[in-house]
Amino acid sequence: MHSDTSRETGEEPPARSSNLKQFKSAGRGFWSNVSDADWNDWHWQLKNRITTAEQLQRLMPTLTPEEFAGAKLANHKLALAITPYFFNLIDPADENCPIRWQVIPRIQETHTASWEMSDPCGEDSHSPVPGLVHRYPDRVLFLVTDRCAAYCRYCTRSRLVSNATGYDFHPEFDKQIEYIASHPEIRDVLLSGGDPLLFSDDKLENLLSRLRVIPHLEFLRIGTRIPIFLPQRITPALCAMLKKFHPLFISVHTNHPRELTTEVRDALGRLADAGIPLGNQSVLLRNVNDDAEIMKAHVQKLLMCRVKPYYLYQCDLITGSAHLRASVRKGLEVMEALRGHTSGYAVPTYVIDAPGGGGKIPVNPEYVLCHNDDRVVVRNYEGKIFEYPEAADGTPLVEAPTEIEEPELCKC
Ligand code: SF4
Repeated sequence: MHSDTSRETGEEPPARSSNLKQFKSAGRGFWSNVSDADWNDWHWQLKNRITTAEQLQRLMPTLTPEEFAGAKLANHKLALAITPYFFNLIDPADENCPIRWQVIPRIQETHTASWEMSDPCGEDSHSPVPGLVHRYPDRVLFLVTDRCAAYCRYCTRSRLVSNATGYDFHPEFDKQIEYIASHPEIRDVLLSGGDPLLFSDDKLENLLSRLRVIPHLEFLRIGTRIPIFLPQRITPALCAMLKKFHPLFISVHTNHPRELTTEVRDALGRLADAGIPLGNQSVLLRNVNDDAEIMKAHVQKLLMCRVKPYYLYQCDLITGSAHLRASVRKGLEVMEALRGHTSGYAVPTYVIDAPGGGGKIPVNPEYVLCHNDDRVVVRNYEGKIFEYPEAADGTPLVEAPTEIEEPELCKC
């Protein structure tokens, strides 16, 4: 009863919410005999990733038939890889564990709906040179690698990431940088992939240095899930190197409050201490975060990690992702429960990346009920309705906005 009411009002039931917001360590799990030095070494974590159905079943005998079949076939579509650290976040006793849904393949990945696409955002058709996507006028997406620390089963770029389908991704840094240097309208470069933080410090520094000398680039960004899958990679040396390239922003990717462990909080803190503004991108996923209470705990916990919730994405129409896709209706419900019910800083922009390459389009619950030449009628987060006067010729009006009991809505 309590939780139903909380969904309607957006108020927090204290017990569950505070549990979701607690920071816990991922622990050592099956790897309790591993030395601290190895466990905290990102190379060790990468070398010991779980990459086969058999390994997965050995570590997790509760694997469902759908998961085992999905894991068997995964490497033909999008490789299976989970770091030991991240694996420890999975609850083996819970088939609906939100971490499990994100990284363990299911046989449903082989089902394709007619509206699904291998390149749902039309990146390949906006790519002037291999590995560079120039879709918006003043910024580019610079794909640097097809490798990640672990693979998200809903990845928008699964056509190329991990090379399971033979896409054979070969970025050509010289050509990518030459294109950027010869297009003065580009002021913002987002390094992504795959995951740029898988590069060694030296290789990443070299790439950032080559970009930083281009005079028209105002700022650089890195999109990464490494602080979440592999917080051990966020070393003091990496942070010291990155801080040489300010203004440099980092967008991380988390979907559920359980991903925000003490290890992740510390890693994000090291990046923030290096002066790097941090934002988070989440994907709305069925059984993971399509729930107002979970999402509210998540965004509030992100702020505690010094990360601004940036985007909430409607899941792209990627081939074989229907079982993970939540409805837009759910997304709007989640947004309705955030706006006004928690700090504005905690509220991300909910967007649909328009299928085929139309770019990100914000989608919001309806707050403007009516807008004509002389007024705007708006609804607040409590459902109260207000009128704001507007002059047809743009002249400011002196009348104060008034709350109105029964607005007479126009027919616009
Ligand atoms: S980390 Fe990013 S690029 Fe890599 S699989 Fe996940 S969503 Fe895709």
